[in-house]
Amino acid sequence: MIKMNDFAREPKELRERELSAVGDLLRTGWYILGENVAAFERAWAAAAGSRFAIGVGNGLDAIEIGLRCLDIGPGDEVITTPMTAFATVLGILRAGAEPVLADVNPTTALLDPDSVARCIGPRTRAVLLVHLYGHIAAMDRWQTLCETRGLALLEDCAQSHLARWRGKSGGSFGRFGAFSFYPTKNLGAIGDAGALTTDDLKIAARASRLRNYGQSERYHHPEIGMNSRLDELQAAILSIRLEWLARFTEHRRRIADYYREHLNNPRIELLALPEEPVNHVYHLFVVRCRERDALASHLRSKGIDSLIHYPIPVHRQSPGRDLRRDPVGLRHSETHGESCISIPCHPQMTDAEVEAVSRALNGF
Ligand SMILES: *Cc1c(COP(=O)(O)O)cnc(C)c1O
Repeated sequence: MIKMNDFAREPKELRERELSAVGDLLRTGWYILGENVAAFERAWAAAAGSRFAIGVGNGLDAIEIGLRCLDIGPGDEVITTPMTAFATVLGILRAGAEPVLADVNPTTALLDPDSVARCIGPRTRAVLLVHLYGHIAAMDRWQTLCETRGLALLEDCAQSHLARWRGKSGGSFGRFGAFSFYPTKNLGAIGDAGALTTDDLKIAARASRLRNYGQSERYHHPEIGMNSRLDELQAAILSIRLEWLARFTEHRRRIADYYREHLNNPRIELLALPEEPVNHVYHLFVVRCRERDALASHLRSKGIDSLIHYPIPVHRQSPGRDLRRDPVGLRHSETHGESCISIPCHPQMTDAEVEAVSRALNGF
């Protein structure tokens, strides 16, 4: 079976380093907010091109904590995309703010600046971009739009670890970047984990408090926080896995290049090429096909897995039905949701497997 992810086939050296890190941790007996978290926060800040990284429990919490650090909450609106993991919108709702949904560009499935501009109202405070599938694009347009309209630019980077745009890392353009290290993300832990990146010392300090009961110093709680700490275990594993991330990312790009060069079935549509190769880290390789269900069964019959990201846009979910949205509608998000399909693209794939997927798609 050619799977969407295949952790069991990861390099032996990586596995051995992880096992010995677990042993080391058990010997120290220090499991929460210790040296491993501090070390990973430094390493991730450097890798993500930000001054600070604050380890948190997961990507959803990173969004909620980031918004709370900016005092974005009840009565405020945050514009984002309906074509994303539901957690993006949930983070806004959990902060007490109202998500407003703009449409996506049909060639990239990324937020469309014109649609976002149509969504801006008197209560709009921020635009939360999602670098969907690992693709970061048009940051100059977003910076200009947010500056001229007085909005905070925010980034959901759960799918875009190490993606860069004109020399700058995703997560360093906005007031904060929210990262998830869910196991299947490009940098994944062996459980739930996340981080907030920022250049702003005030946001960093407040996020460190909010993740830990709102505690400023031991037993002092100046505000209502939560428990969303990154575990020492996950931090230790993440620091090791980070050493492999650049290699794994290159491998994803080579697979994507192969698909782009070899897929030639007119029934299968590719998404737009990134402006520069470094703009895309191919968390997912997504194509569109009108006969998606038939394509998925065809692939399955050849021993190839596929998934759909995402079949039901946010505004079609019950908590999303009444959200304010682009007055023109969300047509491109709907079309994309009806036809998108993700095919295997992970760092353990062999050349033969990539060729087999490509042949299977062309044979459909
Ligand atoms: C995975 C994901 C999240 C949520 O991250 P968790 O760590 O699972 O909470 C948020 N946004 C996007 C775009 C994601 O892909």
